[in-house]
Amino acid sequence: MVPDDLQIFLGPLGYDRSHALKTLLAIYRKKISHISLIQGIPKAMKNLLQADFITGIYAPCASEKSVDDTVKYLFRNDKGLEFETVYLPDNKRKTVCVSTQAGCRMGCPFCLTGRYGFKGNLSAGDIINQIISLPHADEVSHVVFMGMGEPMDNIEEVLKACKILVSDWGLAISSRNITVSTVGILPGIMEFLKRSDCNLTLSLHSPFPDQRGLVIPAEKKYPAQNIVDIMKSYPLMKKRRFSIAYVMIMDINDSDLHLEALKKLLRDSPIRVNLLPYHRIKGDPSRSSTLERMLFFKHELTISGISASIRKSRGEDISAACGLLASGLGKK
Ligand code: SF4
Repeated sequence: MVPDDLQIFLGPLGYDRSHALKTLLAIYRKKISHISLIQGIPKAMKNLLQADFITGIYAPCASEKSVDDTVKYLFRNDKGLEFETVYLPDNKRKTVCVSTQAGCRMGCPFCLTGRYGFKGNLSAGDIINQIISLPHADEVSHVVFMGMGEPMDNIEEVLKACKILVSDWGLAISSRNITVSTVGILPGIMEFLKRSDCNLTLSLHSPFPDQRGLVIPAEKKYPAQNIVDIMKSYPLMKKRRFSIAYVMIMDINDSDLHLEALKKLLRDSPIRVNLLPYHRIKGDPSRSSTLERMLFFKHELTISGISASIRKSRGEDISAACGLLASGLGKK
């Protein structure tokens, strides 16, 4: 809930907005899991709330820790939907990678979540709970919407979750530290650009439409070229970042031709490129590009005026890396 949602219930009972704000702050920031334990609101109001609501905070049902301290959590919500969350501590930066759907209907063949199929949308509450129910919730500095599901396919709940993340009455995390990733579902992207200040990442993986269409079926309906054009022309506020995710696969998308096309696509734009190693899934003969090749891409993009970085692999031993979520669910 956002304050207006709660106020619809509280207003007619004679309680003002400050009561709604106190209640939400207690749940989102102080992580109080039971309404009876919320302080600073009238007892009569607590009783009324308890009759109709729960805080929605529930614990993960399983977890697994990587050798690099990445932790993967499995959640099961009240509808029986299962989904995974990854906690990535990296010195002072503590990132949570949240899921927005149980499974996904985008069908990208390289992704285990895609193979798991679509089971259902998560609510904004399910998304926020993936952060506030974690043992390290108070330390979380960054949130990325890169777990299971396509965020733009569940845009209203994602927008509500973003609002709760950035608001003073919510988690008060800077919108600079929140990134939503998409394979490029245009209607959702347009809503996101209008109604949120958070960062946007487009999963590109190939600058050539025919090849991209083989790994990202959404390309056929919403070509990446159109989305990049929108990102290029959208007035970028100082703090907001647009980026491209490019998973590098040996002899598939790491040729000089790919590099030149990537440069052409992104020339004269503030869009950054994140180069990622490829994580193999069972039965897949493809391999990640070498670090040397990734460094070459990074160098060439940078000297062409395109900001580029290489993202290190995290949590691969527990199947928590990009594209590997749902491996634990798949075994069930
Ligand atoms: S890569 Fe993203 S959009 Fe594609 S199937 Fe996996 S979770 Fe869905």
